Amino acid sequence: MSDTPSILGDTKHTAESITELDRQYVWHPYASFIDAPPIYAVESASGCTLTLTDGRQLLDGMSSWWCTIHGYNHPTLNAAAKQQIDKMSHVMFGGLTHQPAAELAQLLVEITPPNLSKVFFSDSGSVAVEVAMKMAVQYWHSQAQPHKNKLLSLRSGYHGDTIGAMSVCDPVTGMHHLFKDSLTQQHFTEAPIAGFDTPWKAEYIQDFEQQLSSHHHELAAVILEPIVQGAGGMRFYPPEYLRQARKLCDQYKVLLIADEIATGFGRTGKLFACEHADVEPDILCLGKALTGGTMTMAATLCSDKISDGICRGEAGVFMHGPTFMGNPLAAATALASTRLLLSDDWQSNIQRIHRQLSEGLSPCKDYSHVQEVRCLGAIGVVEMQQPVDMAKIQEAFIKQGVWIRPFGKLVYVMPPYVMSDDELKQLTQAMVAVLADESLFQS
Ligand SMILES: *Cc1c(COP(=O)(O)O)cnc(C)c1O
Repeated sequence: MSDTPSILGDTKHTAESITELDRQYVWHPYASFIDAPPIYAVESASGCTLTLTDGRQLLDGMSSWWCTIHGYNHPTLNAAAKQQIDKMSHVMFGGLTHQPAAELAQLLVEITPPNLSKVFFSDSGSVAVEVAMKMAVQYWHSQAQPHKNKLLSLRSGYHGDTIGAMSVCDPVTGMHHLFKDSLTQQHFTEAPIAGFDTPWKAEYIQDFEQQLSSHHHELAAVILEPIVQGAGGMRFYPPEYLRQARKLCDQYKVLLIADEIATGFGRTGKLFACEHADVEPDILCLGKALTGGTMTMAATLCSDKISDGICRGEAGVFMHGPTFMGNPLAAATALASTRLLLSDDWQSNIQRIHRQLSEGLSPCKDYSHVQEVRCLGAIGVVEMQQPVDMAKIQEAFIKQGVWIRPFGKLVYVMPPYVMSDDELKQLTQAMVAVLADESLFQS
């Protein structure tokens, strides 16, 4: 009897026994079981601090991949989840609805670009992208133009890991050759080459226009991450690029899908990155920070033009319906998280973080092995000239008491918006200290 694990999971484990179990059974993102890198067990998290099972504390610079904008264990989000869990944690969405989903949809329509009026809920960012792609294809089918079924995407883009989403990710970093017989062949344009503040030149959009003019007859939509290309390279590009892209999509009768799964909810200094260019996409994908990092949920919004088209088309309905669609628990926390964000002077707060990151990271500019330091909103990026040795650099950051997970040449942070000035100082000082050591980089 004493050997039976408790139903409530309060069996005592050490950090070592957890990581041992993990190594034996659990896949991690983009990971190998052979030669597995070190892994760290987290016991709890509060504010901007992760507490490891072995007692060490780490300041989180990643917001758990863009999600935990209000920090961990936030009392308001916890209260929303607890209130909802005592009513119902889930109910199917076919033929049923509930207050959290209905209210959340209304709020999202209110705060996103004005043309967007309908909300499709799903369970993860990749699925929100799949939904967006299917909406675009079904729309053109309803317009008696079924040949318009391909996507045009930007190189260095990232849109998720499912097969459809992968087909519009950067072909090189997305390793398209591995999956070439399973992936739809899409069209690609060069990644935007200018930085956020670079003075505009017409040539920056030349290849984009070229691709549209060659392929518009078979294109359902352009898909892009507005202003910030995230996991595909942490690149920032000028708002004028986005304005021009919108204009060209209209001109060539191609829909525009904005993937704001990473940029949404204030991260770039605007509530949604499309606002930098005052652009209205036909379809918008949200995820990550939607629930403040408490739970998995995503949403795909579209304009009346798209929803009317689809609903008047051959199928008469939109052909998608996830099991956990509109999950009440996730919707209730998303509602609380979004209201919490809007209740605060979040713009000044993002500017504060931006100042701290820009100043704090500027010493890295003097390192000969640093390619570029760039900051936008609450995002700070140090691009190295060589890829980092992930295991070594991770350990060095942990010694400094911070959690930062670089990829390739990119060492970057997007802290929770509640991070204090002192904590931001600790975070950037750790980066300045660790990045000074050239032995952490592959040559
Ligand atoms: C993370 C991300 C996705 C995929 O979201 P998941 O929830 O990981 O499936 C899609 N697009 C962008 C821009 C992202 O940053």
